[in-house]
Amino acid sequence: MKRIRKLHLMRRVSQVLFLAFFLTMPVFNILRYDSDSRQLYILGKVWSLGLADALGKGTLHGSGEVALIIILKAIIPWLLVLAFFPVMGAILGRFFCGWLCPEGFLFEFADYLNLRILGRKSLLGKNNDTNREDLKGRAMFAILAILFYLTVPPVIGALLSGYFIAPSRIWREITTLQLSPGLTAGMIGVGVYIIITSVFVRHIFCKYVCAPGLMQMLFGWVSPRSLRVVFDRKNFSRCTDCRRCERVCFMGIKPRSTKKEINCVNCGECITACREELGSEEGLFSFSFGGGTARSQDAKISIPSTS
Ligand code: SF4
Ligand code: SF4
Repeated sequence: MKRIRKLHLMRRVSQVLFLAFFLTMPVFNILRYDSDSRQLYILGKVWSLGLADALGKGTLHGSGEVALIIILKAIIPWLLVLAFFPVMGAILGRFFCGWLCPEGFLFEFADYLNLRILGRKSLLGKNNDTNREDLKGRAMFAILAILFYLTVPPVIGALLSGYFIAPSRIWREITTLQLSPGLTAGMIGVGVYIIITSVFVRHIFCKYVCAPGLMQMLFGWVSPRSLRVVFDRKNFSRCTDCRRCERVCFMGIKPRSTKKEINCVNCGECITACREELGSEEGLFSFSFGGGTARSQDAKISIPSTS
């Protein structure tokens, strides 16, 4: 069973590690802007264009040096940052969304809490009775959800404030309970944002709002070789029509009916669900680079009924 769920476990580990990395980058000066000293830290060093010497020369040679420095230290790095998500999308589709994105991870945790408390993933969604808890279990998960949303969003807000306020200062303010207006705004603003998006908006944000997500979607869609999940139509007779692959898909996709789906985040949960259903590592879904370039409507299949 562990082998069958390996993909799911790997994804959870990558989500946790990336979340930890994202939240602690300022602590290690990997990336932060110190609003007090007005200095930008990148990879542990204060980043500066270092134009003073070249400007001081006041010569043609000095001007050339200034231009070169701006190209090498400002324009090229900025272009590389801008190219990250399009390139990711063209190669791996929306892999970042499914395997790394901290926000998507929080949304999935909200799905999990909703399932346990309400028996459905979203407040207004359909019930999924296989995951319904008994009354005691639902009460326990409701308490867990309240504790989570009262504590975790402000803590994340404090950690993210480290991108603009020195982490040592944040720590001092919190331990002495003397919060500055900047830190208070960061904790409340981020906290409220996380609560609203996790409880009410969830994956709608991923589908229609998130700019990095939309860039990966677009470039993944146009790239003929991007990573995607494909359904083994040749072995369709093995399908039990359990619909587990549909129920686990938090992006609301029916994975059997499509070959190329723009909202698929390559999470692989349908792969795991099908392997579990069939009790085999050989499920009906797999990852493929470029497998299936037909439009989704061309890939429609007739789904057998087991009833
Ligand atoms: S179709 Fe499968 S891989 Fe794509 S988002 Fe849904 S569960 Fe994840
Ligand atoms: S999980 Fe596998 S067996 Fe179940 S409906 Fe989906 S494709 Fe068919």
